Amino acid sequence: MKVSIALLGATGTVGQKFISLIHDHDLFELKYIVASERNNGKLYKDAVAWRDESILPEYIANMTLTDVHEIDCDYAISCLPADIANVWEPMLADKGIHIISNASSFRDHKDVPLVIPEINRDHFQLVNRQSSSGKIITNPNCATVFLALALFPLIQLSPIEHLDVVTLQGISGAGYPGVSAYDLLGNTIPNIGGEEDKLEKEALKIFGDQLNGTTIHSHVNRVPVLQGHSIVLHVLFKNEVQVESVEQVFSEFNTKYGGLYKIHEDPFHPQPLRDLNPRDQRAHIGRIKQGGSANRIGLVSMGHNLVRGAAGAALLNLEYFHKYMCSK
Ligand code: NAP
Repeated sequence: MKVSIALLGATGTVGQKFISLIHDHDLFELKYIVASERNNGKLYKDAVAWRDESILPEYIANMTLTDVHEIDCDYAISCLPADIANVWEPMLADKGIHIISNASSFRDHKDVPLVIPEINRDHFQLVNRQSSSGKIITNPNCATVFLALALFPLIQLSPIEHLDVVTLQGISGAGYPGVSAYDLLGNTIPNIGGEEDKLEKEALKIFGDQLNGTTIHSHVNRVPVLQGHSIVLHVLFKNEVQVESVEQVFSEFNTKYGGLYKIHEDPFHPQPLRDLNPRDQRAHIGRIKQGGSANRIGLVSMGHNLVRGAAGAALLNLEYFHKYMCSK
């Protein structure tokens, strides 16, 4: 028998991507879909402006959007704006529903796990400190995740003293309608409100002691790319680290974690438009080079902000957290 779940923010950019990933899942099935109050009672197909590149499954098109208070199942995936998540997520957790959240509302709360399962799923145990019967679990910001996946093998090589991070973030990262075409077409906007703070704090929370003493300095940019965030990362290690050992550790981690990375040798890749697929959970790594001294390395980490940066990250957390709960 499948496990029933609810999807909050089902009509949004992340909600649509989540539907495209979950509709054929062999363990979980969508029982409730929820959007804003104005859409309660409508058929999904009448409320949504479907923009995902997948075809909207017929049975979901004909599901009715439910009032949030009618949800009664074990898990809810939250793709809500943060101000709504602030209220709805604790309200549902108090009813005993576990929340897997894309929103930033509780990511920095000390009792709320901020999880990339391959890296820190041991943090799930933080939920034992939450007083509600339903628990809140979060996935990182859509840029943090590609920074963290790049750091994951690198921290094996040497302690890291300092990280310089520059992001080039696609339009879909701002939801719909997001940044106006008038502002962004043919342009780059050298800031995204609150994003640098999230990137720096979230990376430190995910890695804990492993980044103890590491300083992070970031500059974020919104660029006219539809899907995909690229992270240019310069790492200052405490010890000498050569390009060859970086290539080797990525290759080892790729084998160990079942294709977590796509390593690009072509110096003109990774490119969001050419290299991402619609269900892409990988971090694409390329342009690995020595950074002017024996303890500096530069590289590019790129990935799908709506998949590994949001809906796909939530799906992985749902799968792993469900296993964690079943094992208790
Ligand atoms: P979006 O495209 O703007 O979608 C927002 C969703 O929330 C829609 O389903 C909308 O329903 C619903 N909603 C809006 N106002 C509401 C209200 N007052 N009450 C209840 N529901 C309401 O946003 P998104 O890009 O999918 O982002 C969703 C969340 O994920 C945000 O917290 C965002 O920061 C986070 N996130 C996004 C990305 C990304 O790459 N886009 C990545 C990581 C995390 P209606 O259609 O009925 O208005």
